[in-house]
Amino acid sequence: MTHSVSGAAVAAAFVLAGAVGASSCASIDRIVTVFRSTDAFIASPEDPRVFYEPGAEALARPVLAALPGAIVEVEAATYGPFSVPIRIYVCGTLDCYRRFTGNDRSGGQTNPRRKIFISPKPENTAARVPFVVAHELTHLHLVQRCSAYRAAQMPSWFNEGFAALVSNGGGAEGVSDAEAARAIVAGWTFTPTTEHGFSGSHFGLPAHMFYRQAALFIASLRAHDAGAFRAFILDLEAGRPFAQAFGDRFHSRLLPTWQAFVRQLALRP
Ligand SMILES: [Zn+2]
Repeated sequence: MTHSVSGAAVAAAFVLAGAVGASSCASIDRIVTVFRSTDAFIASPEDPRVFYEPGAEALARPVLAALPGAIVEVEAATYGPFSVPIRIYVCGTLDCYRRFTGNDRSGGQTNPRRKIFISPKPENTAARVPFVVAHELTHLHLVQRCSAYRAAQMPSWFNEGFAALVSNGGGAEGVSDAEAARAIVAGWTFTPTTEHGFSGSHFGLPAHMFYRQAALFIASLRAHDAGAFRAFILDLEAGRPFAQAFGDRFHSRLLPTWQAFVRQLALRP
């Protein structure tokens, strides 16, 4: 079956490739992965939102089991229902995962066409998969109504930290809250931006440490003023620019808010 490719989706892939700051080769590679046909995946008879590569039935099982609970969890934390169809593709081999995502390191990935891929890498045990599913569903929810441009502009620290927070540590399993807090206080941390900005590696932070630190900061924003936080998330989901929504809802700019958070952490026993 051939696929017609919408102009908007092509634009989304180009914007995304540009935003991740990949080299031009990697960008073209990435765009190819986004438009690869997923027709060879089999829709699960148990839940047609989950598709698996022939041979990936075993990994599909915990995905199927986790999905209903993860949807409830993500919709509660994002203050609304999913408005796009949920489609999760479970790869049976790392080669499959690489062909659809352009990498073989991540546990899951949500692409600009709003399809979620789950990796069969050994770290994705049946116990870990529910967290990965909730993490990717958070990404999907956050950008489901945004334009491709706005989705690509979402700050990396916020996108990943929020997904880790909502999924109770999905993607940040290797680092505890206490370890992340100590690292921040010791200066081994990142500088948050209101644009897409850098990922953790730019600051010398492994992914789990970067995600956990960002999740701590986002949790502190939510704990400080739950109503403002709710309005902020709804603003972002409606496509409002990050800096504008942040300033309006928290009555402060991002960097001073971050600096105050770091000072507070340092005062904790
Ligand atoms: Zn993520």
